[in-house]
Amino acid sequence: MSGQGSTQTVIDSLEFARTGQTLRGSLPLPGLARLKDSLVDALGMVEFEVTGGHDARRRPILTLAIHGMLRLQCQRCLGALEHPLRVLNTMLLVTAGESAAGGLDEEDAEWIEASGTLDVATLVEDEIMLSLPYAPRHEEGSCRHVGTAAADGAAASAFGKLAVLKRNSN
Ligand SMILES: [Zn+2]
Repeated sequence: MSGQGSTQTVIDSLEFARTGQTLRGSLPLPGLARLKDSLVDALGMVEFEVTGGHDARRRPILTLAIHGMLRLQCQRCLGALEHPLRVLNTMLLVTAGESAAGGLDEEDAEWIEASGTLDVATLVEDEIMLSLPYAPRHEEGSCRHVGTAAADGAAASAFGKLAVLKRNSN
């Protein structure tokens, strides 16, 4: 095993939790295919740390921390927007039988199916996708080209169409 992407990210999740292991690594953004569409450019890396353990009820859990800097597209000015990524999540590991039987409590907000071949890279990407703002924007007043914003442009062209329709109906 050598070269790019050689970080071993596939774990046996239940064994990982039982023995309290920790896996740290970094993933190059260009390798996260599903995330790419949300980014202005896919340069850089995200760092992650996943730790196995148990919750207060002795159930197996994984704790996942992700850090990095993403460049999203501002939905107001379409410029690049620096988005500091900070995810910290605890997930309960459940077997297929448990999830089907509905043996989960209301407060068990996050859980994933236990797997002998859980790919942490996929999990990291899932969590990043879930953490992204639906419509990222610069703070009010800090867009670079106010007035040429996509929303303004769309509104202007809609009014333009109305004006044309009006003229035609006369
Ligand atoms: Zn902006």
